[in-house]
Amino acid sequence: MNTQTPAPGTEKVLGAFSSAFGGAPDGVWQAPGRVNLIGEHTDYNEGFVLPFAIDLAARVAVRVRPDRTVRLLSTYGRQGVVELDRDALSRESATGWTVYPAGVVWALAEHGVDVPGFDLVLDSGVPLGSGLSSSHAIECAVATALTELAGAELAPEELVLLTQRAENEFVGAPTGIMDQSASLRGAAGHAVFLDCRDQSVELIPFDAPAAGLTVLVVDTKVSHSHADGGYASRRSACELGAEVLGVAALRDVSSADLAEAQGLLDDVTFRRVRHVVTEDERVLRTVEILRSEGPAAIGALLDASHASMRDDFEISCPELDLAVETARSAGAIGARMTGGGFGGSAIALVPTTAEGRVREAVTAAFAAAGYRAPDLFAVSPADGARRVG
Ligand code: ADP
Ligand code: MG
Repeated sequence: MNTQTPAPGTEKVLGAFSSAFGGAPDGVWQAPGRVNLIGEHTDYNEGFVLPFAIDLAARVAVRVRPDRTVRLLSTYGRQGVVELDRDALSRESATGWTVYPAGVVWALAEHGVDVPGFDLVLDSGVPLGSGLSSSHAIECAVATALTELAGAELAPEELVLLTQRAENEFVGAPTGIMDQSASLRGAAGHAVFLDCRDQSVELIPFDAPAAGLTVLVVDTKVSHSHADGGYASRRSACELGAEVLGVAALRDVSSADLAEAQGLLDDVTFRRVRHVVTEDERVLRTVEILRSEGPAAIGALLDASHASMRDDFEISCPELDLAVETARSAGAIGARMTGGGFGGSAIALVPTTAEGRVREAVTAAFAAAGYRAPDLFAVSPADGARRVG
């Protein structure tokens, strides 16, 4: 990289690169975290989701090496430089966060892209474990950097599947394609409308700042112990529902079919099904409203999504309900829990002028309830993965 002045935001990663490895990298690439605006537990039912890429990103500075060594350093944590043999990458040799870049190198090789040895520094602005997908931000930044450096041309949809493979088969996390689709394909002022059946993507105008709105993320920092079991049992209820109703996936059921479905399903399974069916329809309605009226008109859909997760899918918890209700009473036009549930984060769509009031109200309500102080982040729809230096 021959530029004299570093691109804005790259100073820290460039400084860390030069201290760790000497000199300058071949380039700097970044990929954002994501927030799911609406469409929860619809992905594995072959339905619709509407996430957006956020203005918090993982940045990587990378320089190709003449040998087959890979050296990795994150500015976060104390792991220091990890050195790996490019030709002997395994889940066991990669420790801590390095499973993510190692998984991407492995998935690229499986795809026929031979990545040389390289030095890499990660500096991420995506908070870890807050439900903003810090892990996918790393994978997408690394995948974008390495495909370019290896001279490979992969379409965004191929990169989505490749990073999914890294996460599923190398890291060992059974995740879908929503997070990578948002991180790789997002665009400023837009949300990413993803059909999880055929994996097609459409960008939908969602310029919250231009509409005087802020998306406030409330990370409750709780993770209830039944989260894994709860997720698995929700998935099986959906599979059972689809089987009894004779469809390939709940995506194929519409709200007009629900009256009949109620007669065929036990109460719990029926309510699980009703959440998924109505949530799919809420995503489609949100897309329509964003196109016709804009972000200020989607508040009621966010609220309805939360109620459905709380009452029908039963994946909320007192902390998430408190975040949502408090944000709304303090001026949010809509709010919902986001992510898998049983803890994690909520989002509130807030008039920018009311942001301070909502922040204070949520913080005060958590203190009054004796809950751990939440983390609050304002995010806005940003561009997907790209080279920045
Ligand atoms: P999230 O919802 O944020 O993706 P995950 O548990 O999937 O939560 O991923 C968090 C993991 O990603 C961390 O345990 C860590 O290994 C890795 N990670 C994220 N950001 C960084 C960073 N800046 N430096 C090192 N590792 C990171
Ligand atoms: Mg993750």
